Amino acid sequence: MITRAELAAWDAQDSLASFRDRFHLPDGVIYLDGNSLGPLPKAAVDRLQTVVNTEWGEDLIRSWNKNDWIGQPQRLGDKIGRLIGAAPGQVVAADSTSINLYKLLAAALPMRRDRKVIVSQRDNFPTDLYMVQGLMVQLGQGHTLRYADPNDIAASLDSDVAVLMLTHVNYRDAQMYDMAAVTKAAHDCGALVIWDLAHSAGAVPVSLDAAGADFAVGCGYKFLNGGPGAPAFLYVAERHHAEVRPVLAGWMGHAAPFDFSSDYAPAPGIKRMLCGTPPVLSMSALEVAVDLLLEADIAATRTKSQRLTQLFFDLVDQECSTFGFVSTGPSDLDRRGSQVSLTHPEGYPIMQALIDRNVIGDFRAPDILRFGLTPLYLRYVDLWDAIAVLKEVMATGAWDAPAYKVRAAVT
Ligand SMILES: *Cc1c(COP(=O)(O)O)cnc(C)c1O
Repeated sequence: MITRAELAAWDAQDSLASFRDRFHLPDGVIYLDGNSLGPLPKAAVDRLQTVVNTEWGEDLIRSWNKNDWIGQPQRLGDKIGRLIGAAPGQVVAADSTSINLYKLLAAALPMRRDRKVIVSQRDNFPTDLYMVQGLMVQLGQGHTLRYADPNDIAASLDSDVAVLMLTHVNYRDAQMYDMAAVTKAAHDCGALVIWDLAHSAGAVPVSLDAAGADFAVGCGYKFLNGGPGAPAFLYVAERHHAEVRPVLAGWMGHAAPFDFSSDYAPAPGIKRMLCGTPPVLSMSALEVAVDLLLEADIAATRTKSQRLTQLFFDLVDQECSTFGFVSTGPSDLDRRGSQVSLTHPEGYPIMQALIDRNVIGDFRAPDILRFGLTPLYLRYVDLWDAIAVLKEVMATGAWDAPAYKVRAAVT
């Protein structure tokens, strides 16, 4: 029997506890949606004020040099690289995850010209699949998209496969692939691998270089806490830099943008994957957020994330076992990312009732209640309190109100 007092004692001994105060968290809110939109780091407010008032307001265009705005995509990319096991010079912050996927797919396919199959997972995040579908039409070279069995990726790999594109941590059930093993299986049959780290970066330890990954993308506004619409990032392993030919051959990726030559020549290294002018305000917020994550010990973060995961499921068993919730995803904590999901036929109105009571998670069709577990600002007692609200909403039938059944545009 777990008690709230016991969890308060866990919090008192938590080596990460002091990070909570570095975030702005609204009074009374238990925020379990940091996997979808991270909260505001307090330092981002100060940083944005400086960028707006001083760098934009006073320094104006001189800031591109004086405040190194021009170096931001690579500087920030290298910092993100430290969170995902990438040595410097292989990551840039740029564009959105969707666009970066398109850029990497379009760069990878010509590297395997004689192969016409792209392998992914039907249950992948839809935009990833849409990007493949759109590019296949655009290329008109007879490519096909093949869906692998998520529990046996290797079975879908053969000598026709050009690219394997997978999301490392599934957005619905948090299942996580063994990146090194899957990458090796793809390489053994001559395919290249694109990893989507949208639910991994800032959430679980990632070792792109050590896993031998070819390409990766990821999101700035989820576990990296970079703010709504924050720039995404992309990774290209150094061994591929000379060969990748950017499809969006923009001037920011040119070898000498300020020569204003009418002929494109790619910059050496990762810089060629840049396209247009970086969004300086958004990048500045993301940089502060990444700096904050880099202060935390990743091993301690992972340990706490796994403890929160186990605690969440244990509390659901203890307090809510009669309400028909089904836990999803692997029971082996080492095969999970940092979010938890429950399925329930009335998932949508139940989640609206929770949000109305300041317990914020989200809903994913058709029946998933999803909760992000973020060790830097969540306390163990927060999970106790959240599950107590869930119990109350179910026991009283409060979820069964007409207002909670009206679907909003964003769920
Ligand atoms: C969140 C997410 C995206 C989002 O892409 P955007 O271009 O930022 O809208 C893409 N892929 C996965 C796997 C995601 O989880």
